[in-house]
Amino acid sequence: MNTFGHLKLFVLQRIQRWLFKPFYAGTTLQESEPTVAYLSNYDVFSYLNYATEDCWDEKQFEVNSQIVQKLLLHAATTKNIPFSVCKATSFGHKHLFQKINAQLSLTKNEKHAFKSVVNRFRECCKVAKEHDVGLLIDAEEYNMQLAVDQIVMDLMKEFNTSKAVVYNTVQLYLVDGNERLQQMHYRAKTESFNLGLKLVRGAYMQKERKRAQKLGIPSPICKTKSDTDANFNQAVAYCFNHLSNISILLGSHNEYSMILATEIMKKNRIKSWDERVWFSQLLGMSDHISFILAKKGYNVVKFVPFGPLEKLAPYLTRRAEENTAIVGQTSRELALLQREIKRRSIVAKAL
Ligand SMILES: Cc1cc2nc3c(=O)[nH]c(=O)nc-3n(C[C@H](O)[C@H](O)[C@H](O)COP(=O)(O)OP(=O)(O)OC[C@H]3O[C@@H](n4cnc5c(N)ncnc54)[C@H](O)[C@@H]3O)c2cc1C
Repeated sequence: MNTFGHLKLFVLQRIQRWLFKPFYAGTTLQESEPTVAYLSNYDVFSYLNYATEDCWDEKQFEVNSQIVQKLLLHAATTKNIPFSVCKATSFGHKHLFQKINAQLSLTKNEKHAFKSVVNRFRECCKVAKEHDVGLLIDAEEYNMQLAVDQIVMDLMKEFNTSKAVVYNTVQLYLVDGNERLQQMHYRAKTESFNLGLKLVRGAYMQKERKRAQKLGIPSPICKTKSDTDANFNQAVAYCFNHLSNISILLGSHNEYSMILATEIMKKNRIKSWDERVWFSQLLGMSDHISFILAKKGYNVVKFVPFGPLEKLAPYLTRRAEENTAIVGQTSRELALLQREIKRRSIVAKAL
């Protein structure tokens, strides 16, 4: 897809459309509506994301901010869309965040560009707060994430006064993931605001490892999958123990982590429909988790991407890479589907 996607070959486009259909809701906002309606039939909420990855110029960054604001307004006026989402690199140049992350001083032009980035975020947060829609801010690559954390924490201080509106993302495949989370919590406590957190394992493992190897530095990623799992589960437990000023959205397809979260909720007497706790999976992935949790009364929201296929390419390729890199959950999902198909055909034959 990355190699030939730009050629716009008719057959290739048809194949891509067929192949990726389960993972995106259509090319326009209007086309995404049936997906949102379908999910809501099963008490599963949605949040829409227009593909805005790999942007490079100021005009496009400005357009992206307008798109997020439009989606926030759409969420406010549509049933079953409690959140919107955005990412730092769709509001500003990657190199800018990397420079701030590395504590390098910015040129006059860069300072100006950075001010615009913060303004774009602030405009979105204002709309989110005014219309009571949560705004999730994605985590990206390690060499820019501290800069993003800094911006998002400042926004939380400004907008998360009475409840969490702005959510930062913590990647628990990072060795220092829990340390970062607890530092964020410390700041929220001492400066009296609500901490909104999306907890994920992390999507850039192979890229991060390659970069560290190239630079000859230790990888920021946990050495093993079980280390990442332990980090994630520790973060989940920590947040549930501090719900008085933390709201969480657990973005994961890991069955064990999801079950663990529900067990902690039961143990801590947290209601399944508590508005501070959300479970989230990507459209087309782990429906067996989303639908069962929703049926049991938990708050579940699907990440629903839409947009032209060529723009969705980086997102869809990441999902494909991730699915081939993961041993376990994806094959488990496939096995469950096969078992269900077999069960239904036995029932059909018996009738
Ligand atoms: C709603 C939602 C929002 C998301 N938002 C973001 C985001 O903002 N930023 C982001 O980076 N990702 C995001 N992701 C992706 C997420 O980080 C994971 O890549 C993906 O969900 C797979 O992890 P899992 O918990 O679902 O499942 P699992 O299958 O249990 O875990 C797979 C993950 O474990 C880790 N892992 C795998 N092998 C190893 C290994 N050998 N050593 C160490 N760690 C390993 C990797 O992180 C891998 O992605 C999001 C996912 C969801 C569902």
